[in-house]
Amino acid sequence: MATSVRGGGFVLPPAAAGRSFSSQSNLLSNRLLLLPKIGPVCAPRFCKLRSSSPFAVEPSATIIDGKAIAQQVRQEIAAEVSKMKESVGKVPGLAVILVGTRKDSETYVRSKKKACEEVGIDSYGVNLPEDTTQDEVLNFVKKFNDDPAVHGILVQLPLPKHISEEAIVGSVCIEKDVDGFHPMNIGALAMQGRTPLFVSCTPKGCIELLVRTGVVIKGKHAVVIGRSNIVGTPAALLLQKQNATVTVVHSKTPNPAEVTRNADIVIAAVGVPELVRGDWLKPGAVVIDVGINPVEDLSTKKGYRLVGDVCYKEACQVASKITPVPGGVGPMTIAMLLSNTLESAKRAYGLVDAAP
Ligand code: NAD
Repeated sequence: MATSVRGGGFVLPPAAAGRSFSSQSNLLSNRLLLLPKIGPVCAPRFCKLRSSSPFAVEPSATIIDGKAIAQQVRQEIAAEVSKMKESVGKVPGLAVILVGTRKDSETYVRSKKKACEEVGIDSYGVNLPEDTTQDEVLNFVKKFNDDPAVHGILVQLPLPKHISEEAIVGSVCIEKDVDGFHPMNIGALAMQGRTPLFVSCTPKGCIELLVRTGVVIKGKHAVVIGRSNIVGTPAALLLQKQNATVTVVHSKTPNPAEVTRNADIVIAAVGVPELVRGDWLKPGAVVIDVGINPVEDLSTKKGYRLVGDVCYKEACQVASKITPVPGGVGPMTIAMLLSNTLESAKRAYGLVDAAP
């Protein structure tokens, strides 16, 4: 159905040429990173912030610089891609399927494309109009599943309401599920003695931040706030695999502050701006803030700014280490996507064991 345009280009189906496709320069991604979850074309709805409690002490936490660490990871990936090119004459390929014209999704896709280009990964993709049928999307997934130059497939979420996310995510072959969303990969993550082919990028990035900044996970009490399939649940499973004792706090937990106060490591993935206050934290805790929430700020050009799920100002005075928002987990999510794609290509070309 589609024709491949390679070499850092995209796959654009000829049949689609006359339809209302958005820019061909849109590519990969998922509902990841960097920007707020804003509606299709409408202005973002902002959350109101609670006023900060007056913590008067100087901040003491070390900032975990996700941007710098992600840059380091990308350099490592670029070096490996170049080695692969030399040894087998191939590079990894990542394909993205984007349905609809959500501005945030388009932005994510563009930043992924740029990230791919920077490390030498080929990008392929298709931008489909909002009214694309589920079968049409499934056909594209199949096409990428069958394409040996594609090592990773991303279906940009959220999908339009008439398309079943479950059906589409489940149709990506697990060997190319670089998002780690396939139930088989999540299942393997949850099981003792199994290793998934891929782990979801954002939680993988959280663990990478901890490891690369020398945080000991083994034997520590970790609290994950949030239990979504793409962040909270895999983050908790990963921490458990790293031998932490893990507690999950969610929307029905009656005493979230009290539970969180026991944690040596806190991963907050809630989507509620500044939910976690300074007094939720044990002194010296390490805090990884996944949240990306737009809040009204008329002093900025855009009229909003991004804050995390943690009240950064307060947490800085209690935690030993903390990720900022933006510039913490977000850049790592993209880096882990590149890393998953590289791993997949290495398996495909026999440069590592086919099964971990
Ligand atoms: P989600 O809405 O799917 O899940 C939120 C989870 O938080 C749910 O499990 C819910 O039970 C829990 N929750 C909601 N209110 C709560 C409360 N008051 N107390 C405790 N738990 C509560 O969201 P998600 O996709 O997991 O994303 C979470 C946040 O992370 C969002 O701000 C999102 O934008 C951000 N995010 C960032 C990245 C990144 O790359 N940095 C990637 C994905 C998501």
